[in-house]
Amino acid sequence: MDWSSFPREKTDCILCGSSSSRLLSVQKTWPVVRCTECGLVYLSERPSEKAIIDMYSRAYYEDGDVGYKGYLQTFEKYHDTFMNIFSRRHRDLLKRAGGRRLLEVGCAYGFLLQYLAQRGWDVHGVEVSPLSSEYARDELGLNVHTGNLESADLDEHSFDVILLLDVLEHLHRPFDLLRRIRGLLSPDGILVVQCPWELYHWEEFTEALLKGVRPGTIEPDSVPAHLYFFQPRTLDAVLEKGGFRICGRQSGNYGAIRRQIQPPEIYRGNPIERLGRFVYFGLGLQRFLYSTARLFNLGNGLIRYARPDEDGEQ
Ligand SMILES: [Zn+2]
Repeated sequence: MDWSSFPREKTDCILCGSSSSRLLSVQKTWPVVRCTECGLVYLSERPSEKAIIDMYSRAYYEDGDVGYKGYLQTFEKYHDTFMNIFSRRHRDLLKRAGGRRLLEVGCAYGFLLQYLAQRGWDVHGVEVSPLSSEYARDELGLNVHTGNLESADLDEHSFDVILLLDVLEHLHRPFDLLRRIRGLLSPDGILVVQCPWELYHWEEFTEALLKGVRPGTIEPDSVPAHLYFFQPRTLDAVLEKGGFRICGRQSGNYGAIRRQIQPPEIYRGNPIERLGRFVYFGLGLQRFLYSTARLFNLGNGLIRYARPDEDGEQ
């Protein structure tokens, strides 16, 4: 997919409105900047909302270098890993949810919803991709709406849990979605947000060190599908601005499946980089850091539990 040819638009910081920013780097022609006022890292030029929604509606799961190529085959092949991830999610939800009525925004093929439905949850989904939402409905028999949350016919204040997993960083208008979610949550309902911590994460620092470049300049592969590159502080600030009070922070780790599909290359780069990669990947330093990171909430996934803030922005 030729991402550089997408119709593009310029944007200021969505968090504080400032247009003052510092260029970190450019990847696939898209500039990644850091807001000099609030520190949010974002694409200051991004594909237009229409272009990106058209793309998700058509091709995201089937082709392209950023999307979920072969998602179904991946799910089947690494079924046990997916089940472990779902099982952990389920345990976490049981600790926090006041009831079992749940909505997943951006539910893809509906595998997590199916897992939860089999364990007694009343599950609903919204998914923009016709391909995957039809699969969820027709093959898995789930209650999934094709389209965005704005077009879904759902009862106000009826959900105990709303899941927003790996969605927020894709949205042109995240505050509109957060407002809608506040309307759908029951008074003691809970929003679960997950997104990657890509730039300025310790892994990114390690990679920069190995390559001898400045941290913050290692480009995530996800450009330009991801419009923001959250850190713990900026993710919290976006949720608070969206009218939520954060009641739990947790760390996840992405990459369990990616590492199985694409094992890291050890023998790459100059001799110093090769040595570094050998120690990091070959001798198991990465595995050690991954398990330690989770204990200290420093994994490469940011998970937040949040409740509508009665006094927050409406
Ligand atoms: Zn800002």
